[in-house]
Amino acid sequence: MRHLIARLAAILAALSVASPGAAQEPMKAPTAPDLVLSGDLTRADHEAYREVPFDLPGGVTRLSVVFTYSGKTERSVIDLGLFDPQRFRGWSGGARDRFTLSAEEATPGYLPGPLPAGSWRLILGAPNIRPGVVARYEALLFFERDGVSAEVSGSSPLTGALNPKAGWYRGDLHTHSGASDGTCRSQSGGRAPCPVYRTVEAAAERGLDFIAVTDHNTTSHFAALRELQPAFDQLLLVPGREITTFFGHANVFGPTGFLDFRMAEAGAQASRSWLAAARASGGLVSVNHPGLPSGEFCMGCGWRIEADEEAFQMVEVVNGATLAQTRSAEGPLQGFTLWRERLNAGARVIGIGGSDNHDPLRPLDQPGAIGSPTTVVHMPELSIAGLLAGLRAGRVFIDMDGRPDRLLDLRAQTGARQAVMGQTLAVSADEAVQITVSLQGLDGARMEPVIDGASDPGLSQIISGDRAELGFEWAAGAVPRRWLRVDVRDPSGRLILVGNPIFLTPRAP
Ligand SMILES: [Zn+2]
Ligand SMILES: [Zn+2]
Repeated sequence: MRHLIARLAAILAALSVASPGAAQEPMKAPTAPDLVLSGDLTRADHEAYREVPFDLPGGVTRLSVVFTYSGKTERSVIDLGLFDPQRFRGWSGGARDRFTLSAEEATPGYLPGPLPAGSWRLILGAPNIRPGVVARYEALLFFERDGVSAEVSGSSPLTGALNPKAGWYRGDLHTHSGASDGTCRSQSGGRAPCPVYRTVEAAAERGLDFIAVTDHNTTSHFAALRELQPAFDQLLLVPGREITTFFGHANVFGPTGFLDFRMAEAGAQASRSWLAAARASGGLVSVNHPGLPSGEFCMGCGWRIEADEEAFQMVEVVNGATLAQTRSAEGPLQGFTLWRERLNAGARVIGIGGSDNHDPLRPLDQPGAIGSPTTVVHMPELSIAGLLAGLRAGRVFIDMDGRPDRLLDLRAQTGARQAVMGQTLAVSADEAVQITVSLQGLDGARMEPVIDGASDPGLSQIISGDRAELGFEWAAGAVPRRWLRVDVRDPSGRLILVGNPIFLTPRAP
């Protein structure tokens, strides 16, 4: 009743039919399956369980299965389950046509845990196969290795984009749940470790497009995100973690396997630590609240890790917990100093915000609530791969108030060449650069350029109307490398938006 075959054309055809829920194309086509199991069930299998064995090679960190079968019009039903070499790993009956499991999380119904090499078995149950009917099944098995996730690379066979459209998406990149030290009101009014769903509900209530849950050092909350995502199908749930060392904290997005946070010193070992591991698996690292001091006031909070330039790609410029405490988005405890130093040293570092929320029931109009601040990212699509690509590209701004109507975009142009936020423009010494700032929802506020780290009040302009385009000329000269970005302040001078830089490099004559 079973045999093993590999038929790539049929597989890809099966994949496209087998995704009724995922209407959108992922950024990359799903990778070809590593194994195809197929065969026939007949009346002889009616009301019986059949085992379909397969060998799982060593080093696999995630197993995903896509399952299809024929004969449904004749009321054939095939249930699905899984055993590893030692134990039961889950059952979905006839409820699902795909599932995934890794050490950290699994599709509900399946059990996360190590994936030992050896002889595994798909379990097929046949509650009904009519006499004379042949139900042909096909199981596509996908193996991931080295913790490099297909969701990160955009080639997941299981999940497409929540929204396939390129555009601006708003979210919070730094939150904590009861998987670490997030707490909220319990039923009887005390404090309790706060379940992940409350963070997700608060983000949905705020109308965010994405929310990263970044508990300290652990990955146990990834399971809850996997469970909640189908029910929150307009809100991208992003598995992240805050690597929390004695010498600094940083959020890591992308890799889902364990990252060893146990640094014993701030210096020499940094280059081969979790920082390198995060980068090797296609992840992004954001230094969190680097302006906080270290010591008994906030243990390990300040950034003291000696890391090379490529070790982190983002800095949390505005931290919501600090905003709530100091009522300032730009005081010395925020992250502007490290960001400016890195940019002036020639690094390409993207500035982001994060609420660092530890209580999702905090009222949404208060600083440090979920979405305060909000990071707004221009993404190729709303998916994990899309978010990582958008953050990497750097067309990103921070909104202190998380308002749904605000936009800030920036364009630099010289001759036929142009660049947007996050991009680099090559300029000759004698060329002037035309800057265009596009703004929305900011009537009466003040646009303020920041050049090489210093505000230039002479170039600032009052924004008039709901949509505005402001321009000015920047005589950049032939300095080796410069950068320009734009902030927006409300009429009282409060910083409300922070934009990312456009970089200039000298153009070869
Ligand atoms: Zn922290
Ligand atoms: Zn935190």
